[in-house]
Amino acid sequence: MDLRALGEFGLIERIRARVGVTHPATILGIGDDAAVIATPPSGRALVTTDAYLEGIHFRLDFAAPEEIGAKAATGAISDIAAMGGRPTHLFLTFGAAPTTAVDTVDAILDGLLAVASRHGAHLAGGDTIASPERILIALTAMGEAAGAAPITRAGARPGDRLLVTGALGGSLAGLTILLEAPERAADPAFAAALLRHRAPVARVAEAALLAARFHPTAMIDVSDGLASEVGHIAAASGVGFRVDLAAVPVHVCARAVASALGRDPLALALESGEEYELIFTAPADDVDAIAHVLHAETGTPATAIGEATATRAVVARDAGGREAPLAPTGYRHF
Ligand code: ADP
Ligand code: MG
Repeated sequence: MDLRALGEFGLIERIRARVGVTHPATILGIGDDAAVIATPPSGRALVTTDAYLEGIHFRLDFAAPEEIGAKAATGAISDIAAMGGRPTHLFLTFGAAPTTAVDTVDAILDGLLAVASRHGAHLAGGDTIASPERILIALTAMGEAAGAAPITRAGARPGDRLLVTGALGGSLAGLTILLEAPERAADPAFAAALLRHRAPVARVAEAALLAARFHPTAMIDVSDGLASEVGHIAAASGVGFRVDLAAVPVHVCARAVASALGRDPLALALESGEEYELIFTAPADDVDAIAHVLHAETGTPATAIGEATATRAVVARDAGGREAPLAPTGYRHF
């Protein structure tokens, strides 16, 4: 069956029937002209929107539809996490051609709703449109701060340490295999990189823990690439950074791809987007406690990779101590 046969209202009803997890703040979900949601106790709601367009953000030949739906939800939820928040609600604007198989749409929804459920987010509304050829998945996520206040990009102070969760490079490594060596995509040596590309995870528990226990001075998620994200914190906070390249945690799966394809693993780690790891700043005295508590309670490592400076430049320091500007490489739309 295709969407033409199911119809707009058939699809909306199908989505409504599938929504498993609801949220205590939902007064009215899917079905009326608008949802009704209780104001968070803090009086401040986090709201963010992310759009994923077939051919630009995903390809149906590079990932399963479940993975595409899951990754869209992950990207939207990660922006809430990056504010030190927990997601509460999602709104989905879905566009597809009338000839799209309902099975494909169901699979996208399966992945999307599984990620939403895992993080306690309720799909409370959206819009449904016909799109001439490409699938559109546009998600609005709402959330609330897990700590006393949201964590912005703007609070880093000179002397603060720069930290990152997990390890970087895997997402771009997986994409590089798909684009440049698709005949090797089934090689088990690259399975981990493909998984990082197709099925990244939003660091919601980690962000909530950081926000509730440590309150980082600034935070951002890695959607475009480390080098680019550090530049955003620098610009918003009015500081610079010195990034120690030798300290940047390169994912072991990125090293495997780099050595197979003759790439620089560090460049993969600096440029890889859609990692959804967290980059944050904190006073130097908090670093050991943060790394210890985060690892003990979530299993996720946090690594100190540099320091905020009063001079506004973002520089990279290599293992030999040489410094050079850190170019904000990574994904760019235009
Ligand atoms: P309207 O014509 O007023 O825009 P719709 O018929 O588009 O109303 O939507 C009816 C209800 O279904 C609304 O509650 C809306 O939020 C919900 N809805 C529509 N499309 C989606 C979707 N893709 N995902 C979730 N909810 C949706
Ligand atoms: Mg509508």
